[in-house]
Amino acid sequence: MTNKYVSLLRQYGFKVTHARVKVLERLEHATKPMTAQELHEELADAKMDLATVYRSLNKFADAGLIARVQLGDEFMRFEFAKHSHHHHIVCNSCGKVSEIELCNLDALSQDIAQKTGFRNITHHVVFSGDCQDCANKS
Ligand SMILES: [Zn+2]
Ligand SMILES: [Zn+2]
Ligand SMILES: [Zn+2]
Repeated sequence: MTNKYVSLLRQYGFKVTHARVKVLERLEHATKPMTAQELHEELADAKMDLATVYRSLNKFADAGLIARVQLGDEFMRFEFAKHSHHHHIVCNSCGKVSEIELCNLDALSQDIAQKTGFRNITHHVVFSGDCQDCANKS
């Protein structure tokens, strides 16, 4: 097994297992952030129990190899950390998720810092609406 996922795991100091490679491979090709449960179901062949998937995902996220994503419900999702700070917009009808590369909330954060005295302000924002396909249907 020598591919980019093996190199990535080694680079981040993780033991290389078939299951871990599969998790990373699946995440990179996902069209939207995935929950541990979804990954576990899709990777039934990798013979990893849900707890192991969950543990691996959290270790990967702590190391910065993947990113945690919140989409406004109770589930923690994960995505391949291919790019830096960005946001997501979720369709109210079909659940489709699109990436929003643009973020101009820094000015607001500075404003909040000035007004509240808070420092090191971060934000977790999820946008939602009707995607193009769903809007066209109605
Ligand atoms: Zn939709
Ligand atoms: Zn994303
Ligand atoms: Zn932002």
